[in-house]
Amino acid sequence: MSNPFINPLSIPVLGFCAYSGTGKTTLLKQLIPELNQRGLRLAVIKHAHHDFDVDIPGKDSYEMRKAGARQMLVASHVRWALMTEDARDSDPELVHLLKHIEADKVDIVLVEGFKKLTLPKIELHRAAHGKPFIHTHDENILAIACCDDTVLPSDLRRLDLNNVGQIADFVIEYANNWQAPNPKLPIPAVDACTIGSDKNLSVSQGLAQILSHVSAVSGTEDIDLDELDNRVLASDSISPVDVPQQTNSAMDGYAFAYQDPMPESFTLVGEVFAGHQYSGTLKAGETIRIMTGATVPVGADTVQPRELASEVDAKVSFEGTIQQGQHVRLAGEDIAKGQVALKQGTRLGAAEQGLLASLGFNRVPAYRRPTVAVFSTGDEVSQPGEALKPNCIYDSNRYTIKAMAKRLGCNIIDLGIIEDSEAALEATLSKAATQADVVISSGGVSVGDADYIKTVLARLGNIDFWRINMRPGRPLAFGKVGSSLFFGLPGNPVAVMVSFLQFVQPALRKLAGETEWQPKLFPAISDEVLRSRQGRTEFSRGIYQLGVDGRLHVRSTGNQGSGMLNSMVKGNCLIIIGDDVESVNKGETVYIQPFADLL
Ligand code: AMP
Ligand code: MG
Repeated sequence: MSNPFINPLSIPVLGFCAYSGTGKTTLLKQLIPELNQRGLRLAVIKHAHHDFDVDIPGKDSYEMRKAGARQMLVASHVRWALMTEDARDSDPELVHLLKHIEADKVDIVLVEGFKKLTLPKIELHRAAHGKPFIHTHDENILAIACCDDTVLPSDLRRLDLNNVGQIADFVIEYANNWQAPNPKLPIPAVDACTIGSDKNLSVSQGLAQILSHVSAVSGTEDIDLDELDNRVLASDSISPVDVPQQTNSAMDGYAFAYQDPMPESFTLVGEVFAGHQYSGTLKAGETIRIMTGATVPVGADTVQPRELASEVDAKVSFEGTIQQGQHVRLAGEDIAKGQVALKQGTRLGAAEQGLLASLGFNRVPAYRRPTVAVFSTGDEVSQPGEALKPNCIYDSNRYTIKAMAKRLGCNIIDLGIIEDSEAALEATLSKAATQADVVISSGGVSVGDADYIKTVLARLGNIDFWRINMRPGRPLAFGKVGSSLFFGLPGNPVAVMVSFLQFVQPALRKLAGETEWQPKLFPAISDEVLRSRQGRTEFSRGIYQLGVDGRLHVRSTGNQGSGMLNSMVKGNCLIIIGDDVESVNKGETVYIQPFADLL
């Protein structure tokens, strides 16, 4: 099986696969104009037979290539083409080819003929040809375009091979639903296996197990508009009004009924200010002075800005071209009455609060805030503010955890540093479980760790001890104490923050009622060589910035010791190197997870 497909671009990629003779090219030749007409700009990558050439003997470019130029770029003012000699035994690599697409010039890349690759695809099937299906052994098939006589399993999306419009609908739906970038981490290369009592899991397996135990808190409360910041909406907000309420002017200018051709001048019959209405109906050839936001009078449909008008003795003439309907905001064009303005599960910020206000809401239902209890363990861990004993360190984990959980809108219970006794831990933990939705500790969960905390956890709750194939942050305990979720994070301060970002953050978001709890990843160009190891996901701390080429670039913060909080302070993102990648060269694309909004 080939590697999982990681789209290096910020736009969607969709394949079309079929056995030869099914009519792929014929379909694409009809689909491309159809999609263009609907406003989608396309790039196409096509797999060709081995000795194809696009150049013509005798042309300068052809002769220079034959003379030995490994790359030949010919360009004019309408088109340019790059030809690269790429003598290889195997198929070209799609990810490498995709990096040549200019993602700012097109909206989607259609890929024809890379049948075996694991990219999202539409399968074209003609039963009359007697060829087998591809979907039966390829889970990347999103839909099958076939004829009426073909029988398909009911769970497969069916398209009509002869209905280009329907296939175009599907492509547009795919492009609209596609999220840039792919928020899923690479599929693990190793299966989960049990070693002793500690399970080895990949990051995505760990997260999937955690999330399967999390659902949104059940309580909701009506919250005033002013108190809604960072709360999560508990029901769809349906607009009770049209926004804007009335069709109104987007400019200070003159409103009139558009005519073709336009008359030399219009007769000025009045004036209307914002918050007011012109009582009459505008007749053809009449105009009124209108202010931004004022209701457009009945009869008028177009506004010309004041700068492009001259008014002499109640006659108004216009300069410049005029399009019917220009500078007019239609009633309900922002949000129509009855439309879902904000979906249940939306985290509310400034824009959402403004939107709710614009609909006239002053209170809306929000999920109650989850409560998170935090404690630290370890003989060496000391309270900041007190004198540091020999061989000890100050507790930093409790403060990073509390701050991140607060940013996620949680109420916090600080249980402090738990003294070194089983009885104390057991008492604190049992009590915390009755008060908090989630209990988070740090330290004492390493494999082979003799810490009493493992014994107590094993006795009190239903808790798994995992080894996650990641760095930093390998040990992780997760489970339930009573009805509370329990996270036992590692001890090292950076490992704590990285594990929080990867596992606790999505869980707290889902618990808080959010529907968009997936981490947001972006592709960036690595400005240096980055090393990892097969089978392990590496989370380096990085600094991303916009390069002079207009693309995101990233470099690491330098020393990556898992105890060095300074790397989190200097960095603004995690650089994620998936478990199927060993090293990243300078200039290659990696995924980054910005964390500045949480730290
Ligand atoms: P452990 O997993 O308990 O073996 O801890 C791993 C490392 O993290 C050790 O160097 C601990 O001293 C350190 N550590 C544990 N808890 C904390 C804490 N609350 N704050 C800072 N460092 C800690
Ligand atoms: Mg310890």
